[in-house]
Amino acid sequence: MQAKTLTCPVCKAHLNGTNRCSGCGADLSRVLVVAAQAALLREQAREALGRRRYGVASDLSARAQFLHHTPMGQKLLDMARILAATRVEPLADMPAT
Ligand SMILES: [Zn+2]
Repeated sequence: MQAKTLTCPVCKAHLNGTNRCSGCGADLSRVLVVAAQAALLREQAREALGRRRYGVASDLSARAQFLHHTPMGQKLLDMARILAATRVEPLADMPAT
């Protein structure tokens, strides 16, 4: 999980992976569940990219960003959207010269 990139939605303290904020004491269990769901969606999006299912990868990474926006997640979404729009084939499939 990306606990070190998460901040408390109440006081903005960086989370240390526990269910309780060390700064304000807020219960963060739902925040951590949503972040884990976003991470799973990104993993599925990367797998979809590997299978060249660019539209699926774009949808999955967009859902992940909706749940938990991260800079790296945005890069994944941008790449999936570009590949879905242009249908670019991976370089590995290009004939060797
Ligand atoms: Zn807090």
